[in-house]
Amino acid sequence: MTEGQRARYEELGTNLDVVERRIVDACAAAGRPRGEVTLIVVTKTYPAEDTALLAGLGVTDVAENRDQDAAPKAEQCRNLPLDWHFVGQLQTNKVRSVVRYANHVHSVDRPRLVESLSAAVLKAERPELGCLVQVALDKEHGEGEHRAGVAPEDVAELADAIADTPGLRLDGVMTVAPLAGPLAGDPARAFDRLAEIATAVRAAHPAATMVSAGMSGDLEQAIAAGATHVRVGTAVLGVRSPLR
Ligand SMILES: *Cc1c(COP(=O)(O)O)cnc(C)c1O
Repeated sequence: MTEGQRARYEELGTNLDVVERRIVDACAAAGRPRGEVTLIVVTKTYPAEDTALLAGLGVTDVAENRDQDAAPKAEQCRNLPLDWHFVGQLQTNKVRSVVRYANHVHSVDRPRLVESLSAAVLKAERPELGCLVQVALDKEHGEGEHRAGVAPEDVAELADAIADTPGLRLDGVMTVAPLAGPLAGDPARAFDRLAEIATAVRAAHPAATMVSAGMSGDLEQAIAAGATHVRVGTAVLGVRSPLR
């Protein structure tokens, strides 16, 4: 390691310790075992070198939101024991690339994407792809459309479609706390609403246990509401360039 790499390694390690402490405390406050929550580090906009350092620090799950950045990074990191999650808006023309490295896609938001993912998985002859329905809590009752995802009333249908489609496995639901609508600024209530939706999905699909919610600013509220996966970028890697 160069001196610069050593310094970055230590910085990431310190940040991870702080995030780990927050997760431990949030689990304790919620009366949940720490083992119920998986930390996914969102590495978007940061170089593959950081992803490699994170793997060296024991991070097992990383997430990206743009295939153009993720594909070369995943290629550079292909020998590292990392589970890659795709969490961004996904265009169907990127699907063939994404299924080469991602084990989970958290941002499934339309039937056409389900068909496209299935075709790509079957063509790639790879294991099943874990899919989460992205829920747009601000689309409830026809409210604004500021977040990607499907309206709560459309979740069941999309979940059924994923579960019935070859090559795909329905793993659960995902959300980002809404910026608009009645739940804006109240992540605790937003994540409680997601938990209700997750429970309804599990009633039909008992294996769909993933609840992906919570970021650097609201992971405590997400864990309190039952999140199984928190997606943390800034708190581990630092503030991203405002251009992205
Ligand atoms: C960037 C991003 C995150 C991480 O956000 P931070 O506030 O940096 O922790 C989580 N989820 C999604 C979908 C993201 O795009």
